[in-house]
Amino acid sequence: MQTKAYAAQTPKTPLAPYTIERRAVGPNDVEIDILYCGVCHSDLHTVRAEWPGIHFPAVAGHEIVGRVSAVGSDVTKHKVGAIVGVGCMVDSCRTCPSCAANLEQYCEPGFTGTYNGHVSGKGENTYGGYSAAIVVDEHFVLSVTHKEDQLAAAAPLLCAGITTWSPLRHWKAGPGKKVGVVGIGGLGHMGIKLAHALGAHVVAFTTSESKREDARKLGADEVVVSKNADEMKAHAGTFDFILNTVAASHDLDQFTSLLKLDGAMTLVGVPEHAHPSPSVGNLLFKRRSLAGSIIGGIQETQEMLDFCAEHNIVSDIEMIPMQDIEQAYARMLKSDIKYRFVIDMETLKAA
Ligand code: NAP
Ligand code: ZN
Ligand code: ZN
Repeated sequence: MQTKAYAAQTPKTPLAPYTIERRAVGPNDVEIDILYCGVCHSDLHTVRAEWPGIHFPAVAGHEIVGRVSAVGSDVTKHKVGAIVGVGCMVDSCRTCPSCAANLEQYCEPGFTGTYNGHVSGKGENTYGGYSAAIVVDEHFVLSVTHKEDQLAAAAPLLCAGITTWSPLRHWKAGPGKKVGVVGIGGLGHMGIKLAHALGAHVVAFTTSESKREDARKLGADEVVVSKNADEMKAHAGTFDFILNTVAASHDLDQFTSLLKLDGAMTLVGVPEHAHPSPSVGNLLFKRRSLAGSIIGGIQETQEMLDFCAEHNIVSDIEMIPMQDIEQAYARMLKSDIKYRFVIDMETLKAA
């Protein structure tokens, strides 16, 4: 199926209209008419080739909400007309120990990304949600039960939501736990909302003085401007868990030193340039851990979506037409977005 999309032809060219081919609906496939697509910082890292191994043309977008337009003969999970979501994965091997444990994001041969993923035997890459439609195996299609007027704001849950939910659950954020969230961007603002909803005492860390008041509205119990050394020192050795979502290289020690005995800091940001090497002494004297986490499994993503629908949790968004994507990237780089851009995909269809 010929499908309208927006693509980067090279890392240096602005995104522009491009027509892609979507596969015919196979027996296990769901065809989705895309309504909204969130704009993740990973989209920007990808189209600018800030990470190695990016293929062009690149069609980004992995926070997809849409309506099912067709289903294959063997599909049982989704029906035509249903509102569904697609996140960062569209396939995995389904047989390795990680897949068997519903941890497709840690698939041993590697999951297939919604964009820049390998298309088996074809030497092509997958194309993401900056497009009018997508065809995805039903296993990787989620049910979205938010109210109709919340669907645009629910789109970022498919990446920003699950990427913060999964480590918060794994490291047991909840009542009695002091949890830090570093960087109040797309991921970070969801981290604050989710950690708060899970019952933790939440401290937000930001480099932006202008976000101090806002972070409280998002659910932070305390807010620290991380550039202020005295404010930081007041929290030394007190955190159970810190979720670090920062998209740029920075000093990790200023945060690991805030962990208490056996505390952990998990990195989810994937900056273009490496962080300065963290201090080992800072880790070993309090048996602190430094960890990483990538998105979340499909079952866990459905649990997160259902939790958010039940608790009325969505992202704080600014809706844009597809044509404004370059301005959106420029503002994202200045941390000038509260807190996620979402593309109204009608604007692509109309173009
Ligand atoms: P974003 O909306 O741009 O937010 C990043 C935030 O980091 C900014 O809002 C800013 O918050 C802070 N920040 C930016 N530059 C900084 C600097 N130089 N020093 C300190 N703080 C800085 O990005 P996002 O979409 O949330 O994505 C964040 C990162 O996670 C990206 O690298 C992305 O690729 C990665 N990611 C990873 C996964 C995964 O599965 N692990 C999934 C999705 C995204 P303040 O203004 O509050 O300081
Ligand atoms: Zn993402
Ligand atoms: Zn696997």
